[in-house]
Amino acid sequence: MSKEKLGLNTICTHIGEVKDEQFKGAVSPMYLSSSYEFLDVDVKRYPRYFNTPNQEFLSKKIAALEHTEAAMIFGSGMAAISTMFLAFLKQGDHLVVQNTLYGGTVNFIKEEFPKYGIEYTFTSGYTIEAFEAAIQPNTKLIHIETPSNPLMTITDIKAVALLGKSKSIYTSIDNTFASPVNQNPIDMGIDMVMHSATKYFGGHSDICAGAVASSEEHILRIWNVGKNLGGSLSDMTVWMLERSMKTLGLRVKAQTKNAMKLAKWLNKHPKISKVNYPGLKSHPEYKLAKSQMKGFGAMLSFELSEDLESYKFQKELNLIKSSMSLAGVESTMLSPHLTSHALLTQQERNAIGISDQLIRFSVGIEDIKDLKRDIDKAINAISK
Ligand SMILES: *Cc1c(COP(=O)(O)O)cnc(C)c1O
Repeated sequence: MSKEKLGLNTICTHIGEVKDEQFKGAVSPMYLSSSYEFLDVDVKRYPRYFNTPNQEFLSKKIAALEHTEAAMIFGSGMAAISTMFLAFLKQGDHLVVQNTLYGGTVNFIKEEFPKYGIEYTFTSGYTIEAFEAAIQPNTKLIHIETPSNPLMTITDIKAVALLGKSKSIYTSIDNTFASPVNQNPIDMGIDMVMHSATKYFGGHSDICAGAVASSEEHILRIWNVGKNLGGSLSDMTVWMLERSMKTLGLRVKAQTKNAMKLAKWLNKHPKISKVNYPGLKSHPEYKLAKSQMKGFGAMLSFELSEDLESYKFQKELNLIKSSMSLAGVESTMLSPHLTSHALLTQQERNAIGISDQLIRFSVGIEDIKDLKRDIDKAINAISK
């Protein structure tokens, strides 16, 4: 509990350090052993048991950041989410899941759940009524994502948590986009928080990892399935992730600040027809976002005016990379209609508001004037 009183950057820097008792070095030693003593020890350690020294200690940092008793680190965000789902859903159970969701999560549900005999319903929207309407007598878990990709819709976290509690249904959230720097869903009553640590936790586009944070009880339940599925993370990468997370607070705050400024600037830009960012007063859930987020995050999306082609626009960018992933210190952009949502038909995309003009923007830490210049240059180059 005393951990919660430490400031964000202190937690990022110090919680979960492995002490170098032998040489008193300043940083955690990296323990690469896949074989540990079993005689007269309290814990039988093994990498797939998620309990090597580096795995065990880094999970304390994640738990401290998400205000939970415990956490687990995985080999990817999908390893985290699939293990969490399979720990809380069995044959005959039902999942209520938000309709706007990370594509990999949608694929996992649609492709794997039928094999396990697990039922699911995608909500018709992200209002609390839509979640309530999707609940069945056998619903065991409600899963949400807010802000969501790529339109940055905001789901009412407290209302979903209350709905779950009123019907004895567990609730989970994908907190990747906001990160614990900007949003702590556990404080609003959600049971489990998961992350793609490939994104802000790693922050330098060089790590693939995942995490779940929750109570000791829930984490034990997830651990029991996780040791069978085997999605643990190698200790070299755990060590790199610990180093990356020391600057999580600094990075995400700088990125969030940049995003706010860019969203306002883009909103006034004559060649941009729409900006989706929860920090703008024009965002339909601005008030809700303000009430449940500490900052509005560093992800946004915008629509180029009709006379500009999004493919050409991205080809003309110099500084901002056209790149599939997100949340690195470098700014990246992508066209959802050419990437994450390419498999949907034009009609299906239109129905969920993803036009060919839409660009998703993961805002980095670069100087704002350079980012603005890059965008303006690209727009000018393709304007007739
Ligand atoms: C990337 C991502 C995931 C999946 O994480 P991986 O590390 O790629 O397995 C899940 N949710 C969100 C919101 C993501 O952006």
